[in-house]
Amino acid sequence: MRKADRAPVGSLTCPNPGERPDLWPWSARRVDGVLRVGGVDLTRIACEFGTPTFVLDVEGLRGRARVWASAMAEEFWDGYGMRGGDAFYAGKAFLSADVARLVASEGLGVDTASLGELTLALRAGVDPKRIGLHGNNKSDEEIRLALESGIHRIFIDSMDEVRQVERIAAELGVAAPVMVRLKSGIHAGGNEYVATAHEDQKFGLSLATGQALEAMAAIARAPHLDFRGLHSHIGSQIFGTRAFSQAARIVIDFAARLRDELALGVPAIDLGGGVGISYTGQDPVPTSPVEVARVLADAVRERCAHHGLPIPHVSVEPGRSIAGASMVMLYRVGAIKDVSLEGGGVRRYVAIDGGMSDNIRPVLYDAAYTATLANRDCPAQPGALARCRVVGKHCESGDIIIRDVDLPGDIAGGDLLVVPAVGAYGYSMASNYNMVTKPGVLAVEDGAARWFVRPQTVDHLLALDAGLA
Ligand SMILES: *Cc1c(COP(=O)(O)O)cnc(C)c1O
Repeated sequence: MRKADRAPVGSLTCPNPGERPDLWPWSARRVDGVLRVGGVDLTRIACEFGTPTFVLDVEGLRGRARVWASAMAEEFWDGYGMRGGDAFYAGKAFLSADVARLVASEGLGVDTASLGELTLALRAGVDPKRIGLHGNNKSDEEIRLALESGIHRIFIDSMDEVRQVERIAAELGVAAPVMVRLKSGIHAGGNEYVATAHEDQKFGLSLATGQALEAMAAIARAPHLDFRGLHSHIGSQIFGTRAFSQAARIVIDFAARLRDELALGVPAIDLGGGVGISYTGQDPVPTSPVEVARVLADAVRERCAHHGLPIPHVSVEPGRSIAGASMVMLYRVGAIKDVSLEGGGVRRYVAIDGGMSDNIRPVLYDAAYTATLANRDCPAQPGALARCRVVGKHCESGDIIIRDVDLPGDIAGGDLLVVPAVGAYGYSMASNYNMVTKPGVLAVEDGAARWFVRPQTVDHLLALDAGLA
């Protein structure tokens, strides 16, 4: 569906954080009209730290990580023939040293997908045995660092990579711990660009064409590859549980084929991430980690019993569902412009001091967001609201953060606009378009604020320009 066909979404009543714990940070509440997160008024943050700023609710992030860790540990409790379960945080959603340490302290591993993410996780002090490396086109340097630092698992994504990892492991004289990413044929997720397991896309080794079996045979013969298990990630922003259980069944069925055709055991499987979250308050209710873990456990147990297979260790890789709702974006409203529409009526353009450089998702995926004011109450009566379009400051007419949202009719320059659910794929996808500096990520907890990531300055930007002294 194109965005133009979609019914307008917005905070028709300006969502009250207290009523939407799935959309807002757990600690968000309004006190005397002012929105407060982690015990810190957003008005104070704007004054002391400036705007735009990502505000991270530490308690919420920790809590969401903890829920995943305990759900997986409980549902795959290593008794009764099971080998345990755990979660790896998908670092690409948002990674900083403090976030890596925080999720690690809750018992999660950290999945990385580049030299930068891997280096950051290692330098943050995450146990290498709790780090994974993903990617469909890993460099020799990435693989070498992974092997030298003794990380837990490298996810093999192609036949070329079987040879590449074998070659580098041989050079280093080590056995490379590898898992194999399967293309299950399942298509899930709200948008084609974030659905990653159907056939016509770049990730994984195809089950349907025999590619996966061929890669497994090559891995079994390779002297420096230590096969640790199978992996599947079927997409992102998935609601419900059907696609997850289907993928789990497909992976276990393939494990049975490996036993039958190659006499190979599968000690572990990883069923990826992709659990959807709320962005506007009008999305479906997100599936809880407990429910996802239970459905996976049921599917894995059922298929293993069917094939007479031992139950493998099971992990998942949530990203968005841990980081997403833990962060809000704080902007300051600037220019406001009423634009007359062709069919009559006006649209109010509300420009904020950031835009597509700090949140590319609306442009990239047609993603919908909502917003409210942080510095004063939003009136409940529809008559006091105006339909607004929130736009950024970039030289691009598509630089739209929210296509339609109802905000107070007297919204004015200087007001503080807050957008919830920007914690995943917000900062991590930020760019320097127009040489706009990246905002910082300010962590708030118990009334105190500190940077997890400091804001960029123009000097940081110019530092790489070889033409400047
Ligand atoms: C992106 C990604 C994830 C995390 O996805 P979310 O939708 O953020 O939960 C997990 N595993 C892999 C392989 C990924 O590429």
